[in-house]
Amino acid sequence: MDLRERPEDVAFRLEVRRFLEEHLVGEFAELGGRGGSGDETYGFEVRRRWEKVLAESGWTCLGWPVANGGRGASMSEQVIFNEEYVRSGAPGRVNVMGEGLLGPTLIHYGTPEQQARFLPPIVEGDELWCQGYSEPDAGSDLANVKTRAVRDGDEWVLTGQKVWTSLAHQADWCFVVCRTDPDATRHKGLSYLLVAMDQPGVEVRPITQLTRTSEFNEVFFDGARTHVDNVVGGVGDGWRVALATLAFERGVALLGHQLGFRRELDRIVALAQHNGRADDPVTRQRLARAYVELTIMRYNTLRSLSGVEGPAAPPEASIAKLYWGSWHRGLGELAMDVLGPSATVLDGVPRPENGSYGLGDLQRSFLFARAETIYGGSNEIQRNIIGERVLGLPPEPKGAA
Ligand SMILES: Cc1cc2nc3c(=O)[nH]c(=O)nc-3n(C[C@H](O)[C@H](O)[C@H](O)COP(=O)(O)OP(=O)(O)OC[C@H]3O[C@@H](n4cnc5c(N)ncnc54)[C@H](O)[C@@H]3O)c2cc1C
Repeated sequence: MDLRERPEDVAFRLEVRRFLEEHLVGEFAELGGRGGSGDETYGFEVRRRWEKVLAESGWTCLGWPVANGGRGASMSEQVIFNEEYVRSGAPGRVNVMGEGLLGPTLIHYGTPEQQARFLPPIVEGDELWCQGYSEPDAGSDLANVKTRAVRDGDEWVLTGQKVWTSLAHQADWCFVVCRTDPDATRHKGLSYLLVAMDQPGVEVRPITQLTRTSEFNEVFFDGARTHVDNVVGGVGDGWRVALATLAFERGVALLGHQLGFRRELDRIVALAQHNGRADDPVTRQRLARAYVELTIMRYNTLRSLSGVEGPAAPPEASIAKLYWGSWHRGLGELAMDVLGPSATVLDGVPRPENGSYGLGDLQRSFLFARAETIYGGSNEIQRNIIGERVLGLPPEPKGAA
């Protein structure tokens, strides 16, 4: 594979860079690239305004078809955009769920009416989304979903509880996997409903995380309603649509992430040189190893993206998820070792009103990285997929149910 950029890629990179140089100024630049994973309450209102700036210049929903309001960008253009975005120090995006998950799902499975209603407000940065899949007894085992929807005239009425719902407290809408046929079991009888969050019958209770911020929530549905037109893919077809959404939870953003990882690693190396820990042979080996593994990760991601448009196939996606989640958790541990005793001391003054609790960037990243081997499919689940589908090992024993 030829990893060199073509002339049109170079031109596109310059165009992205120019846009960011011109627009990433003032309050947007002051965010200093914050607002990403584990930091999503930080500067939220400013980041919403930034989303509008991106939208006005056509820099949202890059990979969507032009007919759906996107830019029709190729895979390499999306990769370049993500890389330049992270490199410039632009803030974390506010509508990753809408742009990255719900939008592509509607483009593939939505009716023309659903596309016309829901896609433009995502492109324009006006409506934010959250993902209502997990429940107290249905995380890894998503087919065990118990939230029910019962038809009442032209509406579905929802009852049940979701948990770990990222950004539900900021979202306008939620895509909910729920049971519409109470007599069907497991993945049969599920439907994929689009539900407005701002209505009686929806209660959002934030959950405080290790970082002391609350990025995810419990969501209780108690008589919440949605119109029958808001079922994606047909009643009873929710499992297929839900899996399609999960397949989009991958990919091009990973290269942007990896640039962020590289910046973290550079800071840890600089810190080790500054505080003398770079003289310790074991620390030196760990730093070098982290660098080698990150480089492998980058080339592997480029390789798996080359020639691929659309969702990643399971073995590659599972290997990538297992690898980067575990690597980044390890990097956080290395960062704390390099920080030494100061890792246990707050780095700044807590300003909860701005979503800031005085943690340094490395401390926050270390704490949040514990979640990265859980969400998007835990390490154990990824190993199961690799064991069964790649290595052909015997399937894990299923319970009596
Ligand atoms: C930061 C964060 C954000 C999240 N955001 C969202 C969101 O926006 N929307 C949403 O719907 N969900 C979200 N989740 C939930 C996430 O999808 C679940 O946490 C994940 O699927 C695991 O489910 P669980 O927490 O119920 O754990 P469980 O499924 O109960 O698993 C508990 C442990 O058992 C292991 N385990 C389970 N089954 C098996 C098996 N078959 N074989 C081997 N080991 C197994 C797991 O690996 C884990 O270690 C988020 C989670 C986190 C941490």
